[in-house]
Amino acid sequence: LNRLYGPLTAMANVQVDIMTALVSFERVLEILDLEPTVTDAPDATDLRDAVASQGAGLTLDAVSFRYPSAGEAGLAGLESVTLPAQEQAQDTLRDVSFTAPAGSMIALVGRSGAGKTTIGHLVTRMYDPTSGSVRIAGQDLRGVTQESLRHTVGVVSQEAHLFHDTVAANLRYARPDATDADLETALRRARIWDLVAGLPQGTATVVGDRGYRLSGGERQRLAIARLLLKAPDVVLLDEATAHLDSASEAAVQAALDEALAGRTSLVIAHRLSTIRDADLVVVLDDGRVAEQGTHPELLAAGGLYAELYRTQFAAAN
Ligand code: ADP
Ligand code: MG
Repeated sequence: LNRLYGPLTAMANVQVDIMTALVSFERVLEILDLEPTVTDAPDATDLRDAVASQGAGLTLDAVSFRYPSAGEAGLAGLESVTLPAQEQAQDTLRDVSFTAPAGSMIALVGRSGAGKTTIGHLVTRMYDPTSGSVRIAGQDLRGVTQESLRHTVGVVSQEAHLFHDTVAANLRYARPDATDADLETALRRARIWDLVAGLPQGTATVVGDRGYRLSGGERQRLAIARLLLKAPDVVLLDEATAHLDSASEAAVQAALDEALAGRTSLVIAHRLSTIRDADLVVVLDDGRVAEQGTHPELLAAGGLYAELYRTQFAAAN
C-alpha cells in the first residue's frame, strides 16, 4: 500500500507547489503527465545557440498580457494554475518594455498585484504575451524549443520545493550526469555543504516533507545548489516571501550572490541592498512601467519609486 500511497502523496504536494516549483518544472510535468499549452513551433530553434553567439540579454518589447479565463488554462487540466474566472477590466500587463543586457541585473519593484510575478511567468513561457514579445539573445521565445528555454532560464523562489528523495537525487534533477564532486562543489558554493555533510547519510539522506526536515533557509540553499548545477544563463528570483531569521538570511544571500554572478537576472526585489546593486530598477504600477532607472536616479526623480522607498524599502532594511 505504501508504494501506492507514497507517489500519490508526492503528486498532491507537487500540485500544491507547482507555481513555485519551476526549477523542476519539467519533472513536474512528467509526473503529472501534463503538457503546457504553449508548444514548440515546427521550426523552433535551440535558444542555447543564440545565447552562445550573442549572450543572454533579456528584452520585453511592448508586452501586454491578459490571463486566459478559466477553461483555456495555461496548463491543460491543472486548475490551480488559473484562478477562477474573474472579470478582468484591463490587461494584467500593458505595454511593458525594458532590456537587461547579458550579465546585468534588473530589479523589478512595485506594489502587490502590480504584475511582477506575471512578468516571470512570461519569461519562463508559462504563458505567451497577448501582444508584443519576450526575447532572450534576440530570439522571440515563441520561436525557440521549450527544452532549450528550460535549460536557459532558472528560477529561484522562496518556497523551494524538494522531492521526497535523496539530496543527491534532488540535485541531479538539474543535471543527471553530475558527479559526486560536482554536487559537493555546488553545495559548497550554495553555503549548504557543511549541513549536508553532517546528515546521517550525507548526500544519500532522504529529504522532503516525509524525510529529513530542512528549514526554509536550508531548502532554499539546496534549491540554489540545484540552480548552480543547472547553470542557466538567465535567473529569475522572487525574493517575496522570505521569512528567514537573520543568520539564515545571510547564508541565503551569500548563496544567491553565487547564483546570480555573471548571469542575466531579473529579481523581484524587496531588499534595498538588491535594488541598490541592480543595474536597472523597473518600477511597475498596475501593469505598466511607471519608471525605470538606477536607484539614485529614481530617488532623485521623486516619483512612485521614491514613495515606495520611503514606505517600504527604507524601513524594511
Ligand atoms: P505581483 O507579483 O506584482 O504582486 P501578480 O503578477 O501576481 O502581481 O498579479 C498581477 C495581477 O494579475 C493581479 O491582479 C492578480 O490578481 C492577477 N493574476 C495573477 N495570477 C493570475 C492568474 N493565474 N489568473 C488570473 N489573474 C491572475
Ligand atoms: Mg508576486
